[in-house]
Amino acid sequence: MTVIDLVLSLALLTSLGFCAWLWARRQPTPTPPVPPPDPAPDPLAALRQPTFLAVVGGIDTGVIVVDPTRQIQFLNESAEALLGIGQPLRGQGLIAMIRDHQADALVAQALRDGESREITLKPIPSGRTLRLRCTPLGPSGQISGAMLLIHDVTQISMLERARRDLVANVSHELRTPLASLKLLVETVQSAPPPEVVQRMLGLMAQEIDAVTQLVNELHELAQIESGRVTLKLSPTPLLPVVERAIARIRPQADRSQITISAEIQDEQCLALIDADRIGQVLLNLLHNAVKFNRVGGAVVVRATLVAPVAPAEATADDPCGDGDWFHVSVSDTGIGIASQDLPRIFERFYKVDRARTRHAGGTGLGLAIAKHLIEGHSGRLWAESIEGRGSTFSFTLPVA
Ligand code: ADP
Repeated sequence: MTVIDLVLSLALLTSLGFCAWLWARRQPTPTPPVPPPDPAPDPLAALRQPTFLAVVGGIDTGVIVVDPTRQIQFLNESAEALLGIGQPLRGQGLIAMIRDHQADALVAQALRDGESREITLKPIPSGRTLRLRCTPLGPSGQISGAMLLIHDVTQISMLERARRDLVANVSHELRTPLASLKLLVETVQSAPPPEVVQRMLGLMAQEIDAVTQLVNELHELAQIESGRVTLKLSPTPLLPVVERAIARIRPQADRSQITISAEIQDEQCLALIDADRIGQVLLNLLHNAVKFNRVGGAVVVRATLVAPVAPAEATADDPCGDGDWFHVSVSDTGIGIASQDLPRIFERFYKVDRARTRHAGGTGLGLAIAKHLIEGHSGRLWAESIEGRGSTFSFTLPVA
């Protein structure tokens, strides 16, 4: 290479380098813009939305939202009422607020494994039955809290219990006469003497009557409770209704030398009643008054007018004041009812001391039916009793 070539090459390289330097200065390497960092998502932000607050504030389901440390972030009024808590504080721990370890454990587990789950519990302060359903909030692995929905299922669980009790009671009441019938049939099958067969057949008829009465009363109670029984109310004098009931029970009372009398005051006043149904109530009360009496005892039916608390509109011409009530009572001198049993005798199937009264028969449904019928007349039925001395069953009826 000649000196000239060398000089030219150097000049070329220098100019190229200069151009590159110039280019580099004019077009600085663009650095990609760095996007601003995403704000951390706040899944509990919805709790501050007015629409959410309005909807959740107006429903009767309790709603509680907690953060991952189980601090309360939201709680509606229904939750406060259902759990019986006062003065809730935002940020307070769930356990400190609801004081129920089962509920706290439910939420802790849902937060841990991201699975929804539910329990039923009976918190002591409110005495209700509550179903709690806990749902974790957020996708799995990023759980940001949990929502607890609280439903009041007290009524459903009471109905469920009533249904179970009914089935248990009916089968219990049927088992005894059916067992007796089976024994009686077996005895007849063993070809005993004719007089024994006759006696067995009589006993069979009694057991069949007991089952028939049970089925009839159950049917009647079901009809009344479902509102399918309509009362045909009309102004009626009470005396003939009382007398008819007494006439029907008298043969049974005579067998035990029990006297039955009636003291009806204000006979000229009429009661607004369904005479057949009130006759049925009286017959039931008289039947018990005779059945649970002693030989030679007494039964008295009384009816009298009582004025309401407000001043009656009765005048000398019209003693049956508007708003007055008849107070009717059936008193006996029988075995009486212990004070601990007294509040329960109107329950379906309740019988005091089953062992002692087994021979007396009865389904334990009569007073439940009577109570419904009196309440259907806007009246009230109640009992007073002294054990060993006797009982008085009273009810009120409106004046026509
Ligand atoms: P039952 O068919 O057994 O008579 P009720 O509903 O009429 O059913 O009565 C329920 C229970 O209340 C009876 O089994 C009895 O134990 C008690 N009872 C009701 N009336 C009297 C009474 N006059 N004296 C004593 N106990 C009574």
